[in-house]
Amino acid sequence: MAVHILVVEDEKPIREMICFGLRRGGYEVSEAEDVATARSCVANHRPDLLVLDWMLPDMSGLEFTRLLKRDKDTKELPVIMLTARADEHDKVTGLDSGADDYITKPFSPRELLARITAVLRRAAPSTTEDIVDIHGLRLDSSSHRVTANDQMVTLGPTEYRLLEFFMTHPERVYSRSQLLDRVWGGNVYVEERTVDVHIRRLRKALEGFNVDQLVQTVRGAGYRFSAKPE
Ligand code: CA
Repeated sequence: MAVHILVVEDEKPIREMICFGLRRGGYEVSEAEDVATARSCVANHRPDLLVLDWMLPDMSGLEFTRLLKRDKDTKELPVIMLTARADEHDKVTGLDSGADDYITKPFSPRELLARITAVLRRAAPSTTEDIVDIHGLRLDSSSHRVTANDQMVTLGPTEYRLLEFFMTHPERVYSRSQLLDRVWGGNVYVEERTVDVHIRRLRKALEGFNVDQLVQTVRGAGYRFSAKPE
């Protein structure tokens, strides 16, 4: 699944230049010319990263970043802020909106790609750490293999994605709707009980290896992956 980047820039030639470079770099790209469009995009088809211009017609990129970083559903969404001049750059950095990186116009597509790679690497351990090992359960993202105490665990594709998400985001409770958004993608309509079905299948697959207790139900809240007792 390609990494999805949302580009928010009101100046069309710049936006097109950025999008062209990113698509060539193998990214899935969405475009928005203002914050209102960007917000609906974040809600409907959650990007993995935002390239956000500072000066936008309806709200500054700075304010938008603050909103995103305050919301628990989007606070981990990485943001790269575009600034027009070096002094704006300093100002944005000083204001500390919570953006993950800043880049001053004009910049080359290559420079932006390098920044994106660096920010994604910092933001999502799952994209760089190929192997996650928790409590004898080992997931290798590069080969899509899961083993428990060195024995192969067979999982369906959804159970695999669910487990991959859990293992790269341990010790945190996720609601059913958050799991739908993060594992299934926010753009598809799936009933929340579908999550329960796949959780059950995942536990069943892990049961034989005595690691099913890692997938924990948190009453009234959702699910958590944890090596600590419930
Ligand atoms: Ca602008």
